[in-house]
Amino acid sequence: PSSPVAGQTFRIATDTTFAPFEYRDASGELVGIDMDLIRDIAAREGFEVEIQSLGFNAALQALSANQVDAVIAGMSITDERRQVYDFTDSYFQSGVQMAIAESDDEIHSYDDLNGRIVAVKTGSEGEKYAKSIQGQYGFTIDAVDQSSTMYEKVKSGNAAAVIDDYPVLAYGIAQGNGLKTVTDKVPGGDYAMAVGRGTNADLVTAFNRGLASMKADGSYDQLIDSYLADPS
Ligand code: GLN
Repeated sequence: PSSPVAGQTFRIATDTTFAPFEYRDASGELVGIDMDLIRDIAAREGFEVEIQSLGFNAALQALSANQVDAVIAGMSITDERRQVYDFTDSYFQSGVQMAIAESDDEIHSYDDLNGRIVAVKTGSEGEKYAKSIQGQYGFTIDAVDQSSTMYEKVKSGNAAAVIDDYPVLAYGIAQGNGLKTVTDKVPGGDYAMAVGRGTNADLVTAFNRGLASMKADGSYDQLIDSYLADPS
């Protein structure tokens, strides 16, 4: 099919490690749901992608500064972000949740966070949620740039908990990352690719068409299953 973006190359920024959406496999290649999705859509629509693994907050800043054309990084659609970015159709349902060290038998609810430290990712929905309940539960927020840093802080006892997206927490916990959840999921914005507001409308159209065709021929479900289907 002829697409207005055919033959063009787009600079797409992403997070560093946000498995199963983007992470490096054993051979160092950037893989994950977001990576497979954008590459498959690009192949269908005839455009090229140059992926830049910048980190989440850095990716948003690069997009705001027009240094990249789009961000795909398990990025949630929010009203606040709609003021500065345009979003494609969503491709995944998400939200946030708290996780604590697997060995922790002291924290059972947000009430037990009083006086403790909660790790979040700078600029994320997890950070926003933590800020929204911080006053009520009396904890301190430690905002960092990388998922791996947040998780390490919890495991080493430098933070009591982390608030992150629940599909990502569930994936890590299933892989034995040493964390567990004790509180409910908080439904939030669904994931979509973002472009600068009023820019790259053709890329958005091409993404949406490619996503629809992946859904129609079963490739979308296959892709999600390849990362998330229970292997047992
Ligand atoms: N979904 C969350 C957000 O959009 C976190 C994304 C991420 O950490 N890569 O803020």
